Amino acid sequence: MTVPTQFLSEIIALFGSPVAENPTQYMQEEAFRAAGLDFRYVTLEVRADQLAGAVQGMRAMNFTGANCTIPHKVAVLPLLDSLTEAAERIGAVNTIARQSDGSLLGENTDGKGFIRAARESGRDLAGGRALLLGAGGAARAIAIELALAGASEILIANRTPARGEELVQRILERTAARSAFIPWEATLRIPDGIDFVVNATSIGLYPDVEAIPNVDFTTIQPQQLACDVIPNPPRTPFLRAAEERGATTLDGLGMLVYQGAIAFMLWTGHEADVEVMRRALERVFAAA
Ligand code: NDP
Repeated sequence: MTVPTQFLSEIIALFGSPVAENPTQYMQEEAFRAAGLDFRYVTLEVRADQLAGAVQGMRAMNFTGANCTIPHKVAVLPLLDSLTEAAERIGAVNTIARQSDGSLLGENTDGKGFIRAARESGRDLAGGRALLLGAGGAARAIAIELALAGASEILIANRTPARGEELVQRILERTAARSAFIPWEATLRIPDGIDFVVNATSIGLYPDVEAIPNVDFTTIQPQQLACDVIPNPPRTPFLRAAEERGATTLDGLGMLVYQGAIAFMLWTGHEADVEVMRRALERVFAAA
């Protein structure tokens, strides 16, 4: 057995509250191990009023990076030294990476994870028209990244109109894409000519796994790509219903894996083994 002679591992933290059930630590540690990297990932329960102290602690202890989840993705912005262009446009950060000068860079990999999964499904995003259900953090990241990937129009349907209209404003002000709000009071009809329909709401989130967005599924078209952000279980009722209409589907597990793989690259400079990450998440979800 080889005995190590240096013990200064690279530390990545996850700041969230409540955070105990977040499976990212398991996924990232499996990927670090597979890559032979001396990195550790620690899940830390950080209350909203302690976030500034946590980021200061991260600097003091020279952490290599961090993830931020609920409720910190927006609140962390003023605590960082710089933001990527996408994080600035999205207005939220899920990944922090220490730079060579010790400063902390904020990035948002949620939407990029979605884009990578969509591209791997063989879809050309440039010029496409998307309809997003939801206007929360996930929808915001996906909308901005879709626009940056060249989507020509992004329609937003949301239960709470003010939040939906705010996202439309953000898309119009910060990207070149067209955008409009669609009220979502009753059953939602998908407008003609839509290429991507994305359930970016929390409908279907565990344990309410049989919940389904109130959509008229007869308006789903076979040429469309129907996507869901819910990773567990990946074949959501929304995706099953869209599949029955002949649409191609993209699940939230792929997005979760890829957003983690992009963060892994930022921290380590190495490509993550996405199959290792996917299997790790599947094991956690099966055990839960
Ligand atoms: P938010 O709380 O910010 O937003 C939730 C969204 O869902 C809002 O638009 C909300 O509408 C809508 N919504 C919730 N319940 C209903 C309902 N019953 N009917 C209609 N609309 C509803 O959450 P996030 O955007 O941060 O997360 C959304 C989902 O995305 C979560 O399930 C999360 O786990 C998942 N996610 C997945 C990722 C992945 O990599 N796969 C990454 C990030 C998130 P309203 O504004 O009216 O409240």
